[in-house]
Amino acid sequence: MAEEKKQPNPKGNNKNDIIMTIASKRGFFYPSAEIYGAKAGFWTYGHLGTRLKHGWENLWRNFFLGLSKSYFEIDDCNIMPKKVFEGSGHLKHFNDPLTECSKCHFRFRADQLIEDAMHTNVGGLDENALTKLIDDNKLLCPRCGSNLMHVRWFNMMFEMKVGATGEDIMYLRPESAQSPYLAFKREFEALRKKIPFGLAVIGKAFRNEISPRQGFFRLREFTQAELQIFFDPDKINEAENWDFVKNYKLRLCLAKDLKEEKITEITCEEANKELKIPKFYAYNMAKVQQFYLEILGMPAEKFRLRELDEKERAFYNKLHFDIELNMDTLGGFKEVAGVHYRTNHDLGGHQECSGENLEVVIGDKRFIPHVLELSFGVDRNVWALMDLFYKEETERTLFTFPASVAPIEVAVYPLVNKDNIPEYSNEVYERLGKEFKVFMDDSGSIGRRYRRQDEIGTPFGVTIDYDSLNDNTATLRDRDSMKQVRVNVNDLIPKLKKIIAKELEFEKAGTLVVKAAKEE
Ligand code: ATP
Repeated sequence: MAEEKKQPNPKGNNKNDIIMTIASKRGFFYPSAEIYGAKAGFWTYGHLGTRLKHGWENLWRNFFLGLSKSYFEIDDCNIMPKKVFEGSGHLKHFNDPLTECSKCHFRFRADQLIEDAMHTNVGGLDENALTKLIDDNKLLCPRCGSNLMHVRWFNMMFEMKVGATGEDIMYLRPESAQSPYLAFKREFEALRKKIPFGLAVIGKAFRNEISPRQGFFRLREFTQAELQIFFDPDKINEAENWDFVKNYKLRLCLAKDLKEEKITEITCEEANKELKIPKFYAYNMAKVQQFYLEILGMPAEKFRLRELDEKERAFYNKLHFDIELNMDTLGGFKEVAGVHYRTNHDLGGHQECSGENLEVVIGDKRFIPHVLELSFGVDRNVWALMDLFYKEETERTLFTFPASVAPIEVAVYPLVNKDNIPEYSNEVYERLGKEFKVFMDDSGSIGRRYRRQDEIGTPFGVTIDYDSLNDNTATLRDRDSMKQVRVNVNDLIPKLKKIIAKELEFEKAGTLVVKAAKEE
């Protein structure tokens, strides 16, 4: 059958539109409650997106919980009492600057509006300084061109009335981090009163964002994967596995170099000695960088750890580096995660507000542990996978996802739907399904089926044909190179495992097949 000639960029759309179209058409994600006219900032993960998200979460879980024997995961409620957010400071401080159009009354996040118009970073400025920037630069409403009003603060918490008479005011948590702080005392006791220990949560967070623009990037309901590590502040310059990272080079964008976007490549040891970044903090920065470059396989030049200076970071953060990825769809480096040294701000606040003693006694020392937080936005990371692994070639578009996150790892293709080929394919599908995420793709020409799976990032395909019935072999296809090898069906699982683990080169996995043009 004729090969499907796919035009990767049929309407001259930009990359963002193309990815959005594939995402909604193929079942990665689409607006929530779409048939009722969706609300900005709320999205549904479809059947492929759910797997992609879970794939990322599983990698995160295995990697970060694997860093120490005393890191564990907990799960908690999304709705919490008002007092929690008095203790955490969110009711007072969790505000974004808002400006409103004097004519159409549309509301904008003031700092973003200014940054978009002036291409400069205004993080940390107060409402008067932002208003002055708007006035001095004659910035107008982007929708109707009228004047903008004085900037004021807008609290991003979602409030709700709970109980039959609505007697209790509660809030949706704006970050998953509060859960480990609230669970701290119980878990410290249960984990035999030792620090450091870590509590992770992968769960929902809710923020009433003023302008949830940028499609899938700034959401009102989103998932975070966060690890809170409780430690003794006197030991911040100690890291158990320091020798493994001390010569590892970090990719830093220091606050002083932000304007020039200069990257400083510096070993952990140098960061510790020259920049005075404590060892425990530098160790965790290295681990985060390794997660992106080695586990997810992202290109180093797309990654940076950006330092936030005192003006930009939260007042309680002593050290703050954001993890930023350079995404074409978002016009440059954007935040997907952060490494925050939150001191004893959170436990201290909850101790004061709840009256519960959250101090620990270790040896002859009594103190409130400090917290180092590794905080990741899962949805932003899912978007980053879509952006960084999207590729256009003359004949096809594809996502070059690593197998570990790909929604489908192996597609099985019966060449025809007759002569015992479907039955044999089913057998192969069942066997592969015990080890991999598999999909049976049995409609359309083989070339069309390959393109379809390439488009959703399936790394491998197994084609069952007439020869398979005679000699028990199948054609194994590699998504990225489009190369094909003939492999004994009994060897498929071990060989695929080795290829994925990079222990076996694809071409050496079997006899190289010279393809008929119609197959690609
Ligand atoms: P931003 O500056 O983009 O508003 P933030 O600095 O307030 O983000 P944090 O409070 O540090 O974000 O949250 C940790 C992570 O949670 C962020 O790095 C990001 O990946 C994710 N996150 C925060 N807000 C949102 C949102 N509205 N939609 C999706 N993810 C978010």
